[in-house]
Order: sequence, then structure tokens, then C-alpha cells
Amino acid sequence: MSAHRPPTDAATSARMSRQRRVGTKPEIALRKELHRRGARFFVDRAPLPGLRRRADIVFPRRKIAVYVDGCFWHSCPEHATFPKNNAEWWAEKLAGNVTRDRDTDARLRAAGWTVVRVWEHETADTAADQVLNALISEV
Ligand SMILES: [Zn+2]
Repeated sequence: MSAHRPPTDAATSARMSRQRRVGTKPEIALRKELHRRGARFFVDRAPLPGLRRRADIVFPRRKIAVYVDGCFWHSCPEHATFPKNNAEWWAEKLAGNVTRDRDTDARLRAAGWTVVRVWEHETADTAADQVLNALISEV
């Protein structure tokens, strides 16, 4: 078995193909809501040169990076699920994602950035509130 392509069940395959699309539904809803409120930003950009990890929404001048974290991929405390096929592979993979998220946060903060993470299960309205709060409070 290749480390990159575990055999998957139908639900997991569907999930993976959704993930590959640029801009998930919650991301698009959040972008729309932010636009509606007058915010202007960049989409799907790497905030730090040399760190090849894109943020979903970036305010470069304000140094704010926004991530819309998928409940499955980022193990949301309310909706995390673990595929039963290849359970060990998935546990490792998903734990690795969380570790990488925290590492990304740390690197961005060290470079003076504010990181805003919202869950995909949050409404666009709630998510937009969090982003705008960061825009207001950031010095
Ligand atoms: Zn969730």
C-alpha cells in the first residue's frame, strides 16, 4: 500500500474529491459575506514566503491569515470522524494535519501575523464576525 493512496470507502473518496476543489462551500460563503461587509482580501495565498502553506483568505497589509478548517480534515471537536478502513493510517494522517495546523499558527505568529481559524460548520455570519474582529483589534 502506498502511503499516499490508501484504499478508501465511497464516503471517504467523496470527501477527498470535495477537498481537492478550490474553495469549499463554507469558504465561498465566508468570502461572499466578507465582501458584502466591504472587506477586501486575497484568496488561497501563502502568507509567508518560503512557507508553502496557503491560507484560505489573506489580508497581507494587515497580516491576517484566515483558515476555514474542514471538520473532518482538521478534527473538529464536534464533528471529527475517523474512517474505519485503514484506521491507523487515517489516525496518523489526521493527527498530522492538526500538528501542522498548530505549527503553521506558530510560524505565522512568530512573523507578526494574526491567525483566524473558523470551522466549516460555523455559519458564514459567525465566521465573518471573527474575521472582522481581528481586522478591528489588530494594531
Ligand atoms: Zn465541526
